[in-house]
Amino acid sequence: MESTPRHVPCPTCGRPVEWSSRSRWRPFCSERCRLIDLGAWLDGTRSIPGEPADGDLAPDSGHGAEPDEETGH
Ligand SMILES: [Zn+2]
Repeated sequence: MESTPRHVPCPTCGRPVEWSSRSRWRPFCSERCRLIDLGAWLDGTRSIPGEPADGDLAPDSGHGAEPDEETGH
């Protein structure tokens, strides 16, 4: 019986990576892909989907707190 080496897709580029002690950067195919993935996380490139980072909220709609002016007394 032969044991076929298991392959996993590199999270960065999708290339099949042999899951063995020979693959030093598994699950990534190379150190570069590993660094890219880490960098993407740190960059915030990979954000949680469904959360728009536009920030197009209306500043204030005018209802509620009025800006208090100094009127003295
Ligand atoms: Zn890769």
